[in-house]
Amino acid sequence: MEFSSKLLENAVNEMSQLPGIGKRTALRLVLHLLKRPEEQTQKLSSSLLKMRETINFCTNCHNISDSQLCEICANPRRDSQIVCVVEDIRDVMAIENTSQYRGHYHVLGGKISPMDGVGPSDLNITSLVEKVKDGKINEIIFALSSTMEGDTTNFYIYRQIENFNVVTTTIARGISVGDELEYADEVTLGRSILHRIPFETSLKS
Ligand SMILES: [Zn+2]
Repeated sequence: MEFSSKLLENAVNEMSQLPGIGKRTALRLVLHLLKRPEEQTQKLSSSLLKMRETINFCTNCHNISDSQLCEICANPRRDSQIVCVVEDIRDVMAIENTSQYRGHYHVLGGKISPMDGVGPSDLNITSLVEKVKDGKINEIIFALSSTMEGDTTNFYIYRQIENFNVVTTTIARGISVGDELEYADEVTLGRSILHRIPFETSLKS
């Protein structure tokens, strides 16, 4: 792509670093911003900067939050003894949308994936195991996507906690193998949480 302006080229290059945004789309977005009042670009860039500089992670569940404890962990009506283990905030949002779950979450921040250089120590696993060891959790619900990485991660965590007094379950697979939680419809996802099965059963199948 030949640019008549270095400034334009820089902006397009930065924009195209985002996932799913190729050079052509990046150019379209940048030209769109140029046509709009300058104020719009200011609002966009300052909101991104502010988010990046001040964003917090809940000290209890590692979900993205504006305060030290996220709204879910801070809500006394939620059951802190049931903990649903998910990959990231998108899964929390998907499950919250079902209105079928009243427990807490634990956000791992990814899945174990040796191909991508992600090992157990890169994820929020230790804090989960600590909570189980301290007897603070009655039930762990594994709700990672049913991919090889998801299964590996579930099993790794399961091995760390299987000797402690905690029930482990996994969401029922109305969700087909390989599906990401965020793409499941609310009814299916809601049902699969209500009809969760013992984790050991999922290992045998
Ligand atoms: Zn939280």
